[in-house]
Amino acid sequence: MSEKKQLQTLLTTTDYRPPEGFAAFPTAIHHASTVLFKNVGALRARNWQDKQSYTYGLHGTPTTFTLEARLAEIEGGEHCLLAPSGLAAISMIDLALLKTGDDVLLPDNVYNPNREMGDWLTRDFGISTRYYDPLIGEGITELIRPNTRLIWTEAPGSVSMEMPDIPAICRGARAKHVPVALDNTWAAGLAFRAFDYGVDIVMQALTKYHSGGSDVLMGAVITRDRELHRKIEMAHMRLGMGVSADDTYLVLRGLPTMKLRFDAHDQAAREIAAWLKQRPEIAKVLHPAFDDCPGHLIWKRDFSGAGGLFSVLFDPRFTEEQTDRFIDSLKLFKIGYSWGGANSLAVPYRIAQMRRAWTEAGQLVRFNIGLEDARDLINDLEQALKVLT
Ligand SMILES: *Cc1c(COP(=O)(O)O)cnc(C)c1O
Repeated sequence: MSEKKQLQTLLTTTDYRPPEGFAAFPTAIHHASTVLFKNVGALRARNWQDKQSYTYGLHGTPTTFTLEARLAEIEGGEHCLLAPSGLAAISMIDLALLKTGDDVLLPDNVYNPNREMGDWLTRDFGISTRYYDPLIGEGITELIRPNTRLIWTEAPGSVSMEMPDIPAICRGARAKHVPVALDNTWAAGLAFRAFDYGVDIVMQALTKYHSGGSDVLMGAVITRDRELHRKIEMAHMRLGMGVSADDTYLVLRGLPTMKLRFDAHDQAAREIAAWLKQRPEIAKVLHPAFDDCPGHLIWKRDFSGAGGLFSVLFDPRFTEEQTDRFIDSLKLFKIGYSWGGANSLAVPYRIAQMRRAWTEAGQLVRFNIGLEDARDLINDLEQALKVLT
């Protein structure tokens, strides 16, 4: 372009191109709504589902395609779609696979917003939602109806920590041709190879370990089967599930250190859980690596690690008021939801109100063990437990 442009146009556009050949480890952050085509022919020929090219920011940029490809590799899948949060990934799976008149099965210990979604589908969308005992195993087959279209699993349930037999549930589901979705956030896609155990759809809250920074919300859906992927991709497009390029960069930045962090969380959490287990104030340690935890042997058989999240049940002699005071007395542990970040957290849950069937007595408190030194965290717990006596 040689003609002279007006200043306002110069402020808006440029023909300058930086030199080719720049190489560096980080993926570039591509901000884009509009994607440019060379000519009308290229625009007409472009297919939004073809990940070898670009059509519109919402359908992907080099930044988001890179994270999707890397997550699929990490989980042992083929396809991946990003969503603006873990919960958005859950709802995208539901809306892709369920319609009025269908039936979905959820474990009774499912992540509570997933349960809220299920209840909404029932109330307003004519989809029946039924809750099953997370330890049901292959017995899931008997619950499957002709209109059952999806079975959710979570390993373990992220508050009460029962560990389901995923391969047995998948066998039962496969016999009736119903896809199984797994919320694999607890194991981060590192400690459990979901697809090798028969899972069809993996959902991740990247908000947790992938990010590791307590500063970004994102989710992902990973599949091996192309047809399942296509269905979820249509829901992704129709719902406009775009993610921010900057947030995507933050998640990409966390990947190289994720396993180092996960293993450090795991080691410290087991040390702290073992310390809590021998305390008289604690009735049970709900951590899959400990035999208090239902499904402990399944964890041992199928998982290679545990991460930093676990719960405890206090001795039933302590009231909610007392255990709340214990949490308020913690100094290093902070009070807050979410997990997978560098800082340790403690949260009380009124578990009996969250479940159809809960028979355990005692107050439940969930811990996220961060990356502080475990000895300091134990000292913090020890001083806070003193308010109980
Ligand atoms: C946090 C979490 C989610 C949802 O992730 P968000 O990004 O917070 O929406 C889903 N499942 C589990 C098990 C989680 O812990």
